[in-house]
Amino acid sequence: VAEKETLGFQAEVKQLLHLMIHSLYSNKEIFLRELISNASDAADKLRFEAINNDALYGNDHELKIKVTFDKAARTITISDNGIGMSREEAIAHLGTIAKSGTKEFFSKLSGDQQADAALIGQFGVGFYSGFIVADRITVNTRRAGVDASQGVRWESSGEGDYSVEQIDKPNRGTDVILHLREGEDELLSAWKLKSIIRKYSDHISIPIEMQKEEWDKDKQESVLQDEFETVNQASALWARSKSDITKEQYEEFYKHVSHDFQPPLAYTHNRMEGRSEYTQLLYVPSHAPFDLWDRNKRGGIKLYVKRVFIMDDAEQLMPTYLRFIKGVIDSADLPLNVSREILQESRDVRVIREGSTKRVLGMLEEMANADEQEQKDKYKTFWTEFGQVLKEGIGEDFTNKDRIAKLLRFASTHNDSDVQDVSFADYVGRMKEGQDKIYYVTAESFNAAKNSPHLEIFRKKGVEVLLMTDRVDEWMLSFLNEFEGKELVSVAKGGLDLGKLEDEAEKKEHEETETQYKELVEKMKGVLGEKAKDVRVTFRLTDSPACLVADENELSGNLVRMLKAAGQ
Ligand code: ADP
Ligand code: MG
Repeated sequence: VAEKETLGFQAEVKQLLHLMIHSLYSNKEIFLRELISNASDAADKLRFEAINNDALYGNDHELKIKVTFDKAARTITISDNGIGMSREEAIAHLGTIAKSGTKEFFSKLSGDQQADAALIGQFGVGFYSGFIVADRITVNTRRAGVDASQGVRWESSGEGDYSVEQIDKPNRGTDVILHLREGEDELLSAWKLKSIIRKYSDHISIPIEMQKEEWDKDKQESVLQDEFETVNQASALWARSKSDITKEQYEEFYKHVSHDFQPPLAYTHNRMEGRSEYTQLLYVPSHAPFDLWDRNKRGGIKLYVKRVFIMDDAEQLMPTYLRFIKGVIDSADLPLNVSREILQESRDVRVIREGSTKRVLGMLEEMANADEQEQKDKYKTFWTEFGQVLKEGIGEDFTNKDRIAKLLRFASTHNDSDVQDVSFADYVGRMKEGQDKIYYVTAESFNAAKNSPHLEIFRKKGVEVLLMTDRVDEWMLSFLNEFEGKELVSVAKGGLDLGKLEDEAEKKEHEETETQYKELVEKMKGVLGEKAKDVRVTFRLTDSPACLVADENELSGNLVRMLKAAGQ
């Protein structure tokens, strides 16, 4: 198909375009960051494919990005000699949104510009951000390895549709040409573009080049030369020394690897030497992605081997319960042709995963245990966004179970609020004289937990109870029997033993009451028959007349409900 074809955007693209142009205008400089980020990804992809097919380079081995502008034509062009796109790829990547979580994202949009701008940021803006400053974008591209006659031109004015046609393109890679909107002429300046690149894209590991400028005495203005110069540092950020990297650079690099728009909560950057040699630069995002619960979702770690990009989402490098961590791991030991299958079995990968897990837990502990309010607030944010996922670690990571347990936060009868901010240590610190157990109740909702009749006796005695209402709680608790030697006990199970909390006089009184009602209890057992395993006189209620309890060794009522809901 050589002729020009006009195709409609996917409905979501239209909506996204419209929103972006209007709500991100105040932040319009980010278009350059996004397009350079794509050019850099394209270089990474070429380098990776070329590991097994050196011919893809042709006679052009030096991967780079060029940013040029034309004052007369009012265009800015971002060129790369990366992997390029075929016609099908251009249609798929520039005409639709393939991201998971797209549906949730669009269902959350409210029409309020500020709120929506923040959401778009979380979703990632990408290629379409070019339309913030351009009323037409032309993309000339040719995939590495195909003939010069097999180039593709994609063009759109960012409204309903776009066109694709076949063109001749002498060199491999992609040129993105922005035809600027009226009023955007200030971008047509070498100084302006350079300063934007230095601000947002300095961390890009390949050279970003721009034409040199020289002052022309006769014309009394600076004139562009034919010669190009490199504008960024052009070295892999994670390979630089920590002391040479600013916080802003770390944050911009995060936005590049994570496709996130918001800065991260925290990061850790380390070079490991010894049995296994690797560098890790890991980030905790400040918000959960739209697809945190998508089971097919892979992790957020980019794997490099000696600076060469190998793969995105290398899920073997991080345990599943830390799947929200983003960043880069660069190994000096793995072979360049490593595959996902090899990663699965590699000893080096196991060492890296264990090391990275420790670093991430350390980073979380630092936030959780800090004295400064700012760090504490960060941990609160972390817990709200990712706490439920971290809980999976209790069942998944036996080695680090104790460290994870200390990071857990719960709602509790202590403050009767659904905010989860009570740690086991807080609880233990408030335990009553004679109390040797940690009590909790599980329920489907905070209100159900808070109003559980099982709590009555505890409230009466002033004993704190943790309120567990997350879906994963029951499952997690099946792996967690104690915290620092204190048994974890459900208030809804079995013959509740309040231990020393029950005084002698009470015990005697209880025994008397039990004898008094023995006959009634026997009668009730007879009436209920098979329906109830046992009938007992209870002292755990103060207001309610009766309640159901689970046997010590049986699944609790809440777990039974959950399993039923899951079709088990
Ligand atoms: P993201 O980078 O998060 O995938 P973008 O909207 O920025 O999303 O880009 C969409 C897709 O378009 C990219 O994933 C890539 O497949 C393709 N693409 C964009 N720019 C380029 C480029 N310069 N070279 C090759 N492919 C590109
Ligand atoms: Mg992108």
